[in-house]
Parts: sequence; C-alpha cells; structure tokens
Amino acid sequence: MSDLVGFLRDQLDEEERDAGLAMAALLPARMLTGGEQVTVPVERVLRQLPKELAQHIARHDPPAVLADVASRRQILADHRMTQAEAVTEDDSLFWEECRECGGEWPCRTVRRLAARYERLPGFKDEWR
Ligand SMILES: [Zn+2]
Repeated sequence: MSDLVGFLRDQLDEEERDAGLAMAALLPARMLTGGEQVTVPVERVLRQLPKELAQHIARHDPPAVLADVASRRQILADHRMTQAEAVTEDDSLFWEECRECGGEWPCRTVRRLAARYERLPGFKDEWR
C-alpha cells in the first residue's frame, strides 16, 4: 500500500517535467524577436480559439500547473504515514496511520489525490 505515495510522486514529477518542457517550448518565440524579452503572444493565440477552449488552456498553463503540483506535494507531505503503537500488558501493537489525520493509512486525502490518476497504468484498485 505504501507504494501509493511513490506512484503519486512519480505522477507529480511527470506533470512538473511536462510543464517545464512546455515553458521551454515557448522560449524560441523570445529568440525570434532578436533576443528581446517580450511577452510570448499566448493571449493572441488564445483569442483565435473558441472561448471555452481558450479558458481551459489558460487555466492549465505551465505556471498554473507548477503551482498546482507544488500544492499537491505539500498536501502529500502533510499527510504522510507514521507508525502508531499501542502497548498492552502482554503485547505491543503497531500499525500505520496518517500523521495529519490520525486515521487509516493511506488516508482519504491521499486517496483523493490519487483518484485523478486511476485510469493510468500502475494504479491499483486497492488505492480507491
Ligand atoms: Zn491524512
């Protein structure tokens, strides 16, 4: 079950890498202007698209994706697994729980973070 966190981190790494590549792909537009720092005319491109499509693209531009990835990384860091222990007269019991929620591991928050990837190869039914 603990490989859910590794799976999630891999997905966040991929999203971050893809957003970085998308930002790098915009750089040649700056070079075409003779090296001057200009605003890449994304807005001009978006104006030529249907409004709904342009709004969707604008919401998922690379800086927005990077901010979203950073936010989800922080949530994942907050909701990490910890070992819990209960000591009785005869025995000690150990189990894994969420450090933030104090409940089962992986907690509902981590499962919800993973839910967006349920159609990807490597996603396990037990993470639902
Ligand atoms: Zn939690």
